Amino acid sequence: MQNLLELKDIGYSYHSLHGETKAIDNISFGVKEGEFVAIVGPSGCGKSTLLSIIAGLLEPESGTITVNNPDGSLHYPRVGYMLQRDHLFEWRSVYKNVILGLEINHTLTEERLEYVNRLLKDYDLYKFKDKRPSELSGGMKQRAALIRTLALDPQLLLLDEPFSALDYQTRLMVSADICSLIRATQKTMIIITHDLAEAISLSDRVIVLSGRPARVKCEVPIKLTLKDASPLAARNAPEFNSYFNQLWEELTSED
Ligand code: ADP
Ligand code: MG
Repeated sequence: MQNLLELKDIGYSYHSLHGETKAIDNISFGVKEGEFVAIVGPSGCGKSTLLSIIAGLLEPESGTITVNNPDGSLHYPRVGYMLQRDHLFEWRSVYKNVILGLEINHTLTEERLEYVNRLLKDYDLYKFKDKRPSELSGGMKQRAALIRTLALDPQLLLLDEPFSALDYQTRLMVSADICSLIRATQKTMIIITHDLAEAISLSDRVIVLSGRPARVKCEVPIKLTLKDASPLAARNAPEFNSYFNQLWEELTSED
């Protein structure tokens, strides 16, 4: 299968009065349609910079991103971008928050609103739709943020450490939950995480980045034999520990 996205030799530096910070260097990898890719790397290595480039928020300094849509069209995939913090607005109700993107885009159609209502019901948020964000638990807020992202029907989801603000137990539940929801919609996902267990249990492939400037150290395809395919069960798969050790070695080895 062709790659939906193909990154080739991407480089990027930040420039300031104090000089230049090279954030990423010669990064190349592909992402297939429907694939879940996790990116791990040391703190400050350039992960968010890379995701911003893929999102089209930053222009790469060097290199190219090629798009191969399955239908042959040339447009860049519609991107949904979700950050570490949920960034819900306290002065808006949950409902007003999740339709914000549609309002901004002037795409508040009946069909979209129906989809939002279905997501609210599926994610057990419908009865909280008139509450303020502060009245929700951390996991519920994160789910609301995901609905806001999905409302725009993105083809490619970019998640930048989306669960790191949650406590461990909530994080296990919410990440498993959100990933199976995204799987069900057959979208393509790139997730940044510093949690190796999360990367292994959620993704089809893990890309390990070096320290700054980030380069690709290795790519590890993940294949787990499981009775059921839930990310929580993945942690009990017989291959889990060897993937964990392999990724840990790669992450901590000298560049
Ligand atoms: P990560 O997400 O892996 O923690 P980032 O991509 O956020 O890393 O940042 C990579 C490097 O670039 C860091 O050293 C950071 O200090 C620097 N950096 C990030 N954003 C800016 C910016 N707007 N201006 C200057 N330097 C930046
Ligand atoms: Mg970051």
